[in-house]
Amino acid sequence: MKKLLIMILICAPFLSVAQEQEYKERFEQLGTMLPTPNSYRTASGAPGENYWQQKADYSIKVKLDESSNKITGSETITYYNQSPHSLNYLWLQLDQNMRAEGSDSELVSTATFFNDTIPAKYLEQYVANGGSSYDFPGGFNIETVKNADGDEMDYLVQKTMMKIRLPEALKPGENISFSIDWNYFVNDRMKGGGRSGFEYFEEDGNSLYTMAQFFPRMAVYNDVEGWQNKQFLGSGEFALTFGDYDVEITVPDDFIVGATGMVQNAKEVLTKDQFKRYEKALKSKEQTFIVTEEEAIENEKEKSTSYETWKFKAENVRDFGFAASRKFIWDGQMVELESTKPFAQSFYPKEGNPLWEEESTKAIKNTLELYSERTFDYPYPQATSVHAASIGMEYPMICFNFGRPDKNGEYSVRTQLGMTYVIVHEIGHNYFPMIVNSDERQWAWMDEGLNSFLESNVMFEYYPDLPYSDNIPQAVTGYMKSSKDQQRPIMTNPEQVLRLGPNAYSKPAAALNLLRNTIMGPELFDESFKAYAQRWKFKHPTPADFFRTMEDASAVDLDWFWRGWFYTTDHVDVSVDEVKYFRIAQDESDMEKNAKAPKGDLGEKEEKELKTDFSDRTDLIFLFQKLQNFGLVNIVPR
Ligand SMILES: [Zn+2]
Repeated sequence: MKKLLIMILICAPFLSVAQEQEYKERFEQLGTMLPTPNSYRTASGAPGENYWQQKADYSIKVKLDESSNKITGSETITYYNQSPHSLNYLWLQLDQNMRAEGSDSELVSTATFFNDTIPAKYLEQYVANGGSSYDFPGGFNIETVKNADGDEMDYLVQKTMMKIRLPEALKPGENISFSIDWNYFVNDRMKGGGRSGFEYFEEDGNSLYTMAQFFPRMAVYNDVEGWQNKQFLGSGEFALTFGDYDVEITVPDDFIVGATGMVQNAKEVLTKDQFKRYEKALKSKEQTFIVTEEEAIENEKEKSTSYETWKFKAENVRDFGFAASRKFIWDGQMVELESTKPFAQSFYPKEGNPLWEEESTKAIKNTLELYSERTFDYPYPQATSVHAASIGMEYPMICFNFGRPDKNGEYSVRTQLGMTYVIVHEIGHNYFPMIVNSDERQWAWMDEGLNSFLESNVMFEYYPDLPYSDNIPQAVTGYMKSSKDQQRPIMTNPEQVLRLGPNAYSKPAAALNLLRNTIMGPELFDESFKAYAQRWKFKHPTPADFFRTMEDASAVDLDWFWRGWFYTTDHVDVSVDEVKYFRIAQDESDMEKNAKAPKGDLGEKEEKELKTDFSDRTDLIFLFQKLQNFGLVNIVPR
């Protein structure tokens, strides 16, 4: 019993009352940090009996003018109010306005200049261009907004958001159709960056267009945020409503076009041979070329100035993207999943070969297989990977990916690795957030983190020979050991973090790898992760729905883990540094009590608790807390 006294004296200096409180809080339930469950979202993490979401159908016609790099479009949106609320106005996203003069993006963009290495004229130009080295007349020109009768509607453009004021409230269960005409100049991605735009190839005088955010899109209205109308600044991506799309894309008639959905008039826009090969490819389990490299090289020379229209349809998607160029080689194959047979296809210029013909479509297949196994069978009819220098960017059924060999067609393992994992990653985004449709503008980790986790699992399973080492605990120790003022909790808006990479991608992904491989075990983890994906597929989940489902489906209390890893920047490898064993001998207890009493460390109540309550509780945390209360164990973060 003397030992007990010694221990108390030793521990006392290490654990202040405040510290003790802090360590105890680390194991507390999340409680009120999660929103109160209701009939829309339940305490189990599943959608509730009154869950609702809005719907928006689009009929779009766009023309891409090659000589001016200008998009001219008109669309009719039919918006279904399935909420229990009357709406007096609607919010739409005008993402191109990020590039418009006076945009907030200019105000928040930062860059580092070193006076002695950059000529002053570049600095002046950078400032004059509002935080970009690329002077460009960007932004949407909204021509008209009209109702179904063709009458002008009243609207307000508020930077990257547009509000349409309704003459009468749109009541629950009603729908409204309206039309918008617009145009804008497409940005040169290689000069000004961006998620979409074009790359110009000087050698043959052709461009490769990867087009997205090219039309005014409905914002999300839901039970959690109301209207998600946070401005688009560049980092926080998108929150979008599901709907059906009917899109006509007019381009020079020697262009090849890939897009969200299935092409409806392949017979018209392809040559007879290409159409035959396309039909064959849809059903073939072998990679099949629809447009060969030789045909693409011939196409590059043509420079037709007459135009033709490609027609696409897509159902139940949250967005629409397309790629167009006369440089495209096109290959594809069917992927056989348990219940679906999607078409995997790739579009790339000759500059991407030989890497792209060898790896792209294969990477789509590998991704669809593993993701389907871990979530649900890929429900869309196709998945497309498009070659686009220096970016990785995702849209439903289509994504734009980097990875290019040098001019001689040679490439390093690094190039192959980068290209492979970016395709896996962007194709993987079909699941998160395209189908499990989280709010990217608010919670970047909900799609990037979950997706990077599955990406790492595809890489380990299908590419063991490539030196992939991302998204595992070892990959984030550098960030987590960095100064706390450089870190932000994962539960932070993507515009407010300092380092989006570790915050939204690798740290949450490492967390899931840790949960799967160490804390829960693959079987329990996979079952719970799948439950989350299946509960929220084609719906709008929030962080609480994820945290709750992972516990609900596994019977593992993970509140301490979410708390440390997601809500704070704490070091989370809490360890028990020292546990000492003490035995309280009955006959000596009086003596001990006397010895302790003057210190006031253990009162009679605690003494009694220590004697009586110890043996019948095996709950580890309870035991630690009890020991800690008495200063017998020192729990410190490492
Ligand atoms: Zn991503």
